Amino acid sequence: MKIILANPRGFCAGVNMAIECVEQMLKIVGSPLYVYHEIVHNRYVVERFVEQGVVFVDSIDEVPAKQTVVFSAHGVSPEVRRNAKERGCAMIDATCPLVTKVHMEAIRYAKQGYKILLVGHAGHDEVVGTFGEAPDAITIVESAEDVEKLAFTQDDRLVYLTQTTLSMDDANVIIDAIKKKYPRVKAPPSDDICYATTNRQHVVRHMAPSCDLVLVVGSKNSSNSVRLTEISENVGTRAYLVDDKTEIDHTWFEGVGTVLVTAGASAPEYLVQEIVGDLVGRYGGKVQSTDGVEEDMHFELPLSLRVLHNSETARV
Ligand code: SF4
Repeated sequence: MKIILANPRGFCAGVNMAIECVEQMLKIVGSPLYVYHEIVHNRYVVERFVEQGVVFVDSIDEVPAKQTVVFSAHGVSPEVRRNAKERGCAMIDATCPLVTKVHMEAIRYAKQGYKILLVGHAGHDEVVGTFGEAPDAITIVESAEDVEKLAFTQDDRLVYLTQTTLSMDDANVIIDAIKKKYPRVKAPPSDDICYATTNRQHVVRHMAPSCDLVLVVGSKNSSNSVRLTEISENVGTRAYLVDDKTEIDHTWFEGVGTVLVTAGASAPEYLVQEIVGDLVGRYGGKVQSTDGVEEDMHFELPLSLRVLHNSETARV
């Protein structure tokens, strides 16, 4: 069997930064360390941190007063920050800067009097956070059918923004519907769907048609991982999302000559390597990698963490 490894795949700059944030904070403040929401949407990453004493919470009320709380890569609404401040908590914000960019756009357009159409999945942590920046100005749009139901007039000042991890194809269908209904709608200054999402989707869209099966390594609650399976299925190639090699059902491989293996932006590379090793062991054959764009994006740790780190270092 031919195994094709997608490039790029796996961790993006935002996930690397968020994970490093928690690792550094464990060194500085120790455990228990409170993190609001899963730091990134990956079961293995979350379980490893739980073993090290991280307590993941879904409400700030679960964080004891005056403790430190880390915000996840997906970002939080101002209300969450307010609640944390009221409890006297120190806040370390591991929000990906590309998510923060969308927050800033929402704040700016709301101040300018725009009504914002936020294209994304209602209930996803990122969308909840962005919505919270300007709840009176934002309408969440999940589908072209939602666009049909919008009651804005042609005189309303409208702008659309998008969740960073959408499928570009799906987002374009919705954006086209918005533009058709409201031709004067304003577009964001640059794409909100991030570079990592775009690059990983591009490989699957390009390679899946010549493969019999696509395996995506990632967790079920990882938006960008789920999108990779959908893109493959949209071009007619079966795709499965697996957290690890134990989730693979080997009946999937009957009659399969070529498999593409990729990973969502929050899936650790060692899980990919374990799966590839397992496939080679069972089915033999060659492993080859796709040529892909080089990703050299890097995000600095949050300033609040760097300050904390420097003061700790000075004290030693
Ligand atoms: S997928 Fe994109 S937006 Fe999300 S953390 Fe990674 S770089 Fe940031």
